[in-house]
Amino acid sequence: MQPVYTIIAPVYNETESLDELYRQICKVMDSSGEAWELVLVDDGSSDGSTDKIRQMAATDERVRPVIFARNFGHQIAVTAGMDYSRGQAVVVVDADLQDPPEVILQLIEKWREGYQVVYAVRAEREGETWFKKTSASLFYRLIFRITDVNIPLDTGDFRLLDRQVVDVMGQMRERHRFLRGMSSWAGFRQIGVPYKRAPRYAGTTKYPLRKMLVLALNAITGFSYVPLQIATYMGFISAAISILSIIVVIIMRLSGSQAFYGQATTLSAVLFLGGVQLISLGILGEYIGRIYDEVKGRPLYIVSEGPSDQSNS
Ligand code: UDP
Ligand code: MG
Repeated sequence: MQPVYTIIAPVYNETESLDELYRQICKVMDSSGEAWELVLVDDGSSDGSTDKIRQMAATDERVRPVIFARNFGHQIAVTAGMDYSRGQAVVVVDADLQDPPEVILQLIEKWREGYQVVYAVRAEREGETWFKKTSASLFYRLIFRITDVNIPLDTGDFRLLDRQVVDVMGQMRERHRFLRGMSSWAGFRQIGVPYKRAPRYAGTTKYPLRKMLVLALNAITGFSYVPLQIATYMGFISAAISILSIIVVIIMRLSGSQAFYGQATTLSAVLFLGGVQLISLGILGEYIGRIYDEVKGRPLYIVSEGPSDQSNS
């Protein structure tokens, strides 16, 4: 039977949370009174999560395991979950129970009203560091300002997507993915539902600063040319400053002033321009590296073990 709902949870070393996740999802989804499935994507775990997922799938056929050959990252794991999903509505949750499963019922309610993207907005975040909250908040505001896509503030990947939207996103095979941006870009009828983000159920975050920075860079390069244009602006600004300084120096020489003699001024001007040029090259590099990755056209992920029915839609 085709399920009405698919719940997707990406799993990267979450053994301690998995049983509780399964228990809570069963409780909430059974209360919806309709058929559902849980797609657990194992993103190269090394702590026994893989075996746990296999066991769950063996005892409950509603659990569909997708096991990656290695760690491909959270956004790719969610993408694989979407590729394997069969439900009419697809809900993405974190495996660490930071997205409380009971909120899913509210998302479903909005879907029933006809909305095709129902994203959960973090009205409150508990148990997270000051650094994480501030950096996340700044990041969402920056993205909102510099992209042409209306990416809603303070939303994560916790959201419900209609089958139509999932199919559209399935056609977007870009490698460096920022799913929130992609689902906003797709359009459709969208609405937010506020919720309180819970602390992690167990274990520690799998998103260290490095991964957060990569996600931020993917979001910016994927949805904005502003960084590339900054180089142009800086070029115009430094050209204007240099013309001004030439005029100032000529006037000073003619009036007999000794100012601006010597190497210090030359040195600082050269260093400044060198810095601007290297930064611009780096920005170009970020885009070119991404173009290179796209051109290679490798698959987004490698599945070493899929669900037994193998219906990869
Ligand atoms: N995750 C993943 N692959 C990764 C990193 C994280 O599948 O490379 C999963 C992780 O298991 C969790 C979700 O993505 O279910 C969110 O990660 P986490 O809770 O560590 O991020 P945070 O909530 O701290 O931002
Ligand atoms: Mg988390």
